[in-house]
Amino acid sequence: MSAGLTGVTPIELPGWVHTYSGKVRDLYLPADGSAVAAEHGDVVLVVASDRISAYDFVLPTTIPDKGRVLTQLTLWWFEQLEGLVGHHLVTAETGPTGVPEAVAGRAMVCRRLDMFPVECVARGYLTGSGLVEYRTSGEVCGIPLPGGLEDGSRLPEAIFTPATKAAIGEHDENVSFEAVAATVGAEDAAVLRDLTLAAYARAEELTRARGIILADTKLEFGRALDGPNRGQIVLGDEIFTPDSSRFWPADTWQPGRAQPSFDKQYLRDWLTSPASGWDRKAELPPPPLPADVVEHTRERYLEAYRRLTGRELP
Ligand code: ATP
Ligand code: MG
Repeated sequence: MSAGLTGVTPIELPGWVHTYSGKVRDLYLPADGSAVAAEHGDVVLVVASDRISAYDFVLPTTIPDKGRVLTQLTLWWFEQLEGLVGHHLVTAETGPTGVPEAVAGRAMVCRRLDMFPVECVARGYLTGSGLVEYRTSGEVCGIPLPGGLEDGSRLPEAIFTPATKAAIGEHDENVSFEAVAATVGAEDAAVLRDLTLAAYARAEELTRARGIILADTKLEFGRALDGPNRGQIVLGDEIFTPDSSRFWPADTWQPGRAQPSFDKQYLRDWLTSPASGWDRKAELPPPPLPADVVEHTRERYLEAYRRLTGRELP
């Protein structure tokens, strides 16, 4: 885990002790003698805030309902992966041994995992840092690719392109499979790769049926320290959300240009437009978001939930 986000004051939750804040999530451990620990053992409360990050900055303005979208989408995806890949969810129900009422809908009681220090990225399409690497070497993370690929090209098959976890404000760095094997051991590295590609394949098929291309995604795995999956490698964090994935509308997909993503694109475009007054190159924090940008962005997250799950956010 990186040093964590500074300058946020996570809410106080009775029975829980705040332990870490990332760019988006706040983590809590059960307080001494809590009913949660007696019932579930070694767990952690994972609370998705309404914070939003872009260009490696946490923005000074929050997006209402974003935390609920991330959590509800993750819960939905865990169901879709049932029988294929294990995960850290213990319960998302509210109650004395579950999620506190104050964070209902945006938190999950999870098995505490010993997280692998690897961002497990699967790519079915070439863009972003993968494209940058391909243009200089013809490879991504040591995997040679055919010539003539463009921004947005579909890859012959999905590839595992791991990255090291960077501290907040810094970029993750793509690494080879061998580098992961050197860090976590060859056996676990192979499990991480196989689980990542299996989860991606199922999710990609599912989004495709809904007119959405899942271009790439980042998963995080850890080893369960307790509970029924003790010793096993399971999914942690969030999965297949707009924050961890690139979703493109399938009907406008056209390799050879940047694909519009239907979630964060609006925000990114505004931030880099003259309207924001933000100088990205100066590496100063971005300005607060005006109300219409907040509302538009919120609507994109809700739409992502709707289109993927086929239902309204509960
Ligand atoms: P990081 O680089 O640490 O992922 P981040 O800013 O992306 O930073 P968030 O997603 O906001 O972090 O916070 C979630 C943090 O909680 C991550 O560090 C993630 O690895 C960790 N985490 C997620 N699920 C679990 C779990 N079940 N047990 C322990 N840690 C977890
Ligand atoms: Mg994260």
